[in-house]
Amino acid sequence: MDQSDGGALGRLRATNRELLVGLVEGAGRLSRSELTRRSGLSRSTVSGLVKELLADEVLVEHEDRGTAHGGGSGRPPILLGLRESPGVVVGIDVGHRHVRIGLAGLDGTVRDEERFDMDVDETPDDTLDRLEEVYRGLLDAAGASGADVRAVALGLPGPVDLEGRMTSSILPRWRGHTPAVELEPRLGIRPTVDNDAHMGTAGEVTFGAARGVADLIYVKAATGLGAGIVVDGRLVRGGTGIAGEIGHVQVDESGRVCRCGSRGCLETEVGARRLVETLQTAHHERLTVDSVLALETEGDAGVARVLGDAGRAIGRVLADLCNVLNPQRIVVGGSLGASTALLGGIREAVDRYAQPNAADAVSVVPGELGERAELMGALATALAQQRSALLR
Ligand SMILES: [Zn+2]
Repeated sequence: MDQSDGGALGRLRATNRELLVGLVEGAGRLSRSELTRRSGLSRSTVSGLVKELLADEVLVEHEDRGTAHGGGSGRPPILLGLRESPGVVVGIDVGHRHVRIGLAGLDGTVRDEERFDMDVDETPDDTLDRLEEVYRGLLDAAGASGADVRAVALGLPGPVDLEGRMTSSILPRWRGHTPAVELEPRLGIRPTVDNDAHMGTAGEVTFGAARGVADLIYVKAATGLGAGIVVDGRLVRGGTGIAGEIGHVQVDESGRVCRCGSRGCLETEVGARRLVETLQTAHHERLTVDSVLALETEGDAGVARVLGDAGRAIGRVLADLCNVLNPQRIVVGGSLGASTALLGGIREAVDRYAQPNAADAVSVVPGELGERAELMGALATALAQQRSALLR
């Protein structure tokens, strides 16, 4: 047998395992012979796969006491059921100013979540210590232990390479750290890691505004600016995991120096912090992103203008991506995704700078999950990992 046969057989085996687990799940309890009949697989295939699923503790055997000892064989029939698992998954979203942690059942229902403020410029150790504390608190509150946690996924607000290492100078104190490895002894499980925009993309694709869309760009517009690009249903990670870093596209050659070392990056020019700073000069009260959005709703002309200009700057970059990738949808998330003027600015620039066919093909919509997109994406990632581990 050559390698390709091995791969195809492996996939067939995974598909058959999934089929059997689905049949047992639907019926509650099933005998081996009934499972054979319903699956249409051969008796020996079912027997072999059931043996594996029992060994993997996906299925358990029950004695069928109701009809036991019928038919004179003297042996009670054995029924197969799913192991009743209190399993949970955990998603973690580390933002520039906050950490969110959520705990969900294996059916994807969020059971509990917590948020605490944090400055990303603190040392990673402080953040990871606090994370561990909140993680334990959530498990306690859910009556779960570390052994019930099937998978953990972690979103971080900066570039993460394919090995989970933070490589960029964007978060100077985290550079060179591998948070998943550092969290493993604290949580008792190694988290899957990706950057926050990629997690937000997974959130909107699984639970939000991008469900059922195969080609899209998710933009996280907040203190940082980043994107997740989905082509043909797959998130594009690129050669080293950092695909989608639109925040560091240069939009003003003589602009301010960016954390990344370049000048006039999109993020430096129109990130939330800069917008608040620009507006502050015209306001006596101390502004925040939330108060700026509230002023927009009240019809403040200056706020609408600054947010509209920011949208046009972001849209100018997205227009080029539309020409290159021809997405069906642009989903705008992050704290600024709630701004009508910002979305309008993006639409305007895409219409102006993308070629007409590409502009006509794309809708620009706000995210449905708001600032929880990254957390929900981390949960979706953990659930996907748990499922693939179960069926491997
Ligand atoms: Zn930059």
